[in-house]
Amino acid sequence: MDAIRSQNSHCADCALEEVDSVNMQFGVFLCQYCAEVHIHFNLPIRKLSDNFNDEEISFLSKSGNQKANLSLLIGLPPWVVTPKKYNFDSIRHWWVEAKYIKAIWARESQKNVPKHDLNKFWFYIDEVTREQPKIKGPVMRQDIKKLFDEGTYLFGNSYIWHPVYGHKWTLLEKALDIITPSSAVSDASIHEACQKRLQLLNYPYPHAKGHLEMIHKARSVKKWVVLLERKIMVFQSNISQYPEFELNIEDVEISLTESNGLALFLQTRTNDLTFQSPKMEEVIEWYHALHCASYLLMVLSDDLMMPNYDLAELHICNIQNSNEYMGEKIHEAVLKKEGSIWKSVRSRWFVLRTQGLYYYINRTDKAPRGMIKLYPETKIEVGNDPKPSNHFLLIGEKVLHLWAENVHQKEEWVVKLNQAIANLKNPDIQRNYLTLN
Ligand SMILES: [Zn+2]
Repeated sequence: MDAIRSQNSHCADCALEEVDSVNMQFGVFLCQYCAEVHIHFNLPIRKLSDNFNDEEISFLSKSGNQKANLSLLIGLPPWVVTPKKYNFDSIRHWWVEAKYIKAIWARESQKNVPKHDLNKFWFYIDEVTREQPKIKGPVMRQDIKKLFDEGTYLFGNSYIWHPVYGHKWTLLEKALDIITPSSAVSDASIHEACQKRLQLLNYPYPHAKGHLEMIHKARSVKKWVVLLERKIMVFQSNISQYPEFELNIEDVEISLTESNGLALFLQTRTNDLTFQSPKMEEVIEWYHALHCASYLLMVLSDDLMMPNYDLAELHICNIQNSNEYMGEKIHEAVLKKEGSIWKSVRSRWFVLRTQGLYYYINRTDKAPRGMIKLYPETKIEVGNDPKPSNHFLLIGEKVLHLWAENVHQKEEWVVKLNQAIANLKNPDIQRNYLTLN
């Protein structure tokens, strides 16, 4: 037992050096503070001062912190908050639940990342004729190296391309340490570094929108906060046209504090801002989005592909832990709708989201006129009119008559609505961005 203890001298969760308990399900050694949280989640905890029988000792010798963390944290992205970094009670609770109960990072999360052989698939620009580049490849790495070494054909300012560089052509001189590595760097470590880079390129660049309480000079004001591309924008409300102020993500130091409940702390050269929410999970989600954005900008810098945004979506909360979360947009188009009190039929702009069907008087309106909540039991019915008809029914809390602009659009609505309802029956499909599939 002493040998096992000396191999597990630091807490598996917070890395504290005073280990006094062990989790008998995962075989991890813990400090007293983390052990308390494990007990809170009904995980089987034993004190190390207990007596262990041979079977238990054999189990512990085969498990241990390193082994468990390797499998439980295989998909842990570098921007996720850890109790090692923030020794807060709230973070410990969140961490133990995410790591052991939900096992968010335990799955092989990078299955979709293509594996590229560093030696193959190199392309280079052979010559440019009448502004048309003539591209050669794929060639082996040795061939690129040979052409460069010969110095008569490929030079430092030549352009080359390999999948590990993401999406664009790179100057050969920038890739020299991969093409002609020094003897100090092993091929395996270059491979690993490139694969890591590919994984990062595979992450969606985060964006976040939602209400937060901004605390500034001891006053607390509710603000609509948007993370978009490289900017954090603070609006008076979610229907405001222009932000009150904005910060560049590169200029902001992002951290968490725990003075009066968990809060985001943003520090710029001239200003300190604190943002809070009554929900701890919401603060953590914001922290991950902001930290991920600044991390990706730092490591991938100029070859990061910024996605296109629908600016109308800036007014919709996409913080999944918020009460205001409406879900992702699935479909949108004009529909005619029968009023619920007056049976008059009016055209409205409809937006289908994972949580419900929203309608607006005008397409550009920031606030919806109303929302029809979808339930797993909601039914979509198409009349058995022999003539082609644009009419269909949504049967939920009430019966709603709807008309699409044409038969083709009606069919599209029926398919999308049925998919959205089917997804409500299977909540796993509504993924959190933390589960990095
Ligand atoms: Zn600990």
